[in-house]
Formats: sequence, structure tokens, C-alpha cells
Amino acid sequence: MVAHAKMLRARHAGAKVVFIGPCIAKKREGAESGQVDGVLTFEDLAAMFEEHGTDLASFAPQPEEEGGVNRAKYYPISRGVIKSFEQYIDGYEFVAVDGAEKCKEVLENIESLSGMFIEMNSCDSACVNGPCSLTLKAGALRANADIRRYVNTDLQKHASSAYEPVRGIDFTCVHERKRTEDFEPTERQIAEILAKTGKFTKEDMLNCGACGYDTCIEKAWAVANGYASIEMCVPYMRERAESMSYEIIRTSPNGIVLLDNDLNILEINAKAKEIFGIAEANVKGKGIFEYFNPTDFVLAQADKKNIYNKKIFVEKTARHIEMTIIVLKDNKGTYAVMKDVTQETESEARLDKVRSETLATTDEVIKKQMRVAQEIASLLGETTAETKVALLKLKKTLQSGEEKKD
Ligand code: SF4
Repeated sequence: MVAHAKMLRARHAGAKVVFIGPCIAKKREGAESGQVDGVLTFEDLAAMFEEHGTDLASFAPQPEEEGGVNRAKYYPISRGVIKSFEQYIDGYEFVAVDGAEKCKEVLENIESLSGMFIEMNSCDSACVNGPCSLTLKAGALRANADIRRYVNTDLQKHASSAYEPVRGIDFTCVHERKRTEDFEPTERQIAEILAKTGKFTKEDMLNCGACGYDTCIEKAWAVANGYASIEMCVPYMRERAESMSYEIIRTSPNGIVLLDNDLNILEINAKAKEIFGIAEANVKGKGIFEYFNPTDFVLAQADKKNIYNKKIFVEKTARHIEMTIIVLKDNKGTYAVMKDVTQETESEARLDKVRSETLATTDEVIKKQMRVAQEIASLLGETTAETKVALLKLKKTLQSGEEKKD
């Protein structure tokens, strides 16, 4: 990777160099080399595509960059480095070893070996079997065959043109001995480290190798020496994550139910049981339809569409709920989150009742007031009319008196 990065920098001045591959170790190598701007594993890349909704099938294939015969494309398979040579130096034996254990054995005996070019791959079957190579459809053997077929076709295609390597680059690389003096932890210190990942007895030590060490004790030794971290224990981290998510589901104030594709209950918390009125202790594996009208779940699954905040009345328990149904990707099932809104709904209904009663009373009062007002008005009307007649009479009298004076 670093050699290739040096070539790319020489060929494309100012370019950013990003390595994409199946190898987690490249992350450190890339950072330490100062030659690589970024390292992504295939898993990182797949996650990025998913996050951005990138559908690779929607892109047209890009024409390959023209180049000459490039045997370096054999690199990801076992003996790939050796196969990439254009010629072999006489007097040397070319050997490939795969797997961390075999590599270790070679390095432990390196001083007794001579006249050998040794290709070492930590991963069995080399890079095609790297830890972040995504799920291999037919295993490393098939991947190996695919690479060989691809490179052979490529070599035939470019047989007439020679690959022009960038020359004048210094590929020398000095690897410093990293472990100078290892610390030898005591049995008690090892036991303390093991306890941090829930390993108290022999049976707790799975020795599964998922952390990169063959045994849990080797890994504990590496933690004591600062070569590994507690979190590298995959079963422990998985269990911790699962128990945390379980705890969140268990204690959630909302009802949560997880169903498989046949609408059988995979997980259900206490609040959901309370909402559905389920008294049985264990209902896992039972159909949701035994306890609840499953129409919304069926519709959500059929349309592959989530349903958000749908208001539902559960007759059995007289609960009002707001239900959100999420359809999981890849037909993994559905889950629902139910918010109990019984109190709010009931107080809203009570408020509505008070409101309409108040309105009715107000109407009645207004009607009565209107009647009274009309009566007062009619009385006032009569009085006014009589006063008006009297005043007119008076006015007339006064007017005729004035005329007589004149
Ligand atoms: S991943 Fe955990 S359980 Fe497996 S070998 Fe390493 S320390 Fe032991």
C-alpha cells in the first residue's frame, strides 16, 4: 500500500491517496506512513454506500484505465506478491506463508533462514480472506480463483503493451522492533483483566480467536502490555451491546414489540404486555394476532412502509395508544413502539365535554338574556313612544302660545 501510494504521488502530484481494501491493519500502517490520506475497509465503504443510499447497480461501468501488463494485480491472493515478479533472481527460493501462526514461526527463526524471498500473509489465504472483506459468497478458494481468472484475462488483454513503472522512487522501509521489553503480568493481574470481560471461570474463556489472539489469556497478556484493548473481545462486546439494548427495551416507558416476518413475537417488554393485556409470562414465539388486531402490521409489511403515530384504541384494556411500526430491512421483521396516551386522550375528552356543556349553558344564558333584553326594550319602547307623544303635544302647545303672543 505504501509503495503504491509513493508511486501514485509521483505520478499524480498533489493527489489525495485513499486505500480501500479488506485489511484493518492498513489503518495503522497508513497513518504511520504519512503517505496515505485515508484508509477505508470494504466494510466501511459498504456502510458509506448504505448511509448515502448509493445503489451501485445504477452506475454505468467505467472504462478501465489503459495500462500495460500489470502482474501486481495478483497481490490479494496467496503467492500473489511472488507471482507479480516479472523475473526471478537466480539462487533464491520463493516461499509464501499464510496465517499469523506460520508468520510468527518464520520470524522467530528468521536468523537461520537465508537465500529466501518470503511472502508472509497474516490472513489465511491472504487478502481475499481479510477480516473486512465482507461476506465471501463462496469462500476464499473461490475468491482466489476469481482473482486469478481476472488477472489472466487482463494480462492477455494488455500482452502487447508493457507496464511503465514509475522509476527513481525509494521503496526502502525500515521496521523498528516495537516490543522492546515485554511486561510479564502476574496471574492475579491476568485474572483481573479477564474479569473485565466477564471471564471468571475456564468455561467463560471461549478462546475463539476473534480478537486476533489464540486464547483469552494471550489477549489478556497483550492488554497488560498495551498491545490490545479490553474492547477487542468480540463476544464480550456483543453481549454487552445486547444486554444494553435489552435493558433499554425492558425499562422503556413505551411499549415495544418485535415481530418476525410471520408476525410471531420475538421480543416484548412489560409495557407492551400491559397495553395488550397479556398476563402470560412467556409469549415469545406466539402470534401477535392472539393478543392484538394485526392489520396494521400486515399492511406495513406488505407495503414495506413504516406507519407513524397512528392512534388506536385497545378494547381489551381500554387503552388509547399512539403506535409507530417500523419495517426492518432485508425482511428481518417489524417492530412497534406504542405510546400510552390514555390519560391525555381521556382528559382531552373530558375537556371536550366540559367545553360543549359550557357552550350549551352559554347558549341558554344568552337566549334568556335576549328574552329579557327584548322585554326591557319593548317596555322602554312603549315608554319612549308615550313620552314622545307628550312632548310633541307640549311642543305644539308651546308653539301655538308663541304665535298668539306675536
Ligand atoms: S475474542 Fe474474547 S473470547 Fe475470543 S479469544 Fe479473544 S478474549 Fe477470548
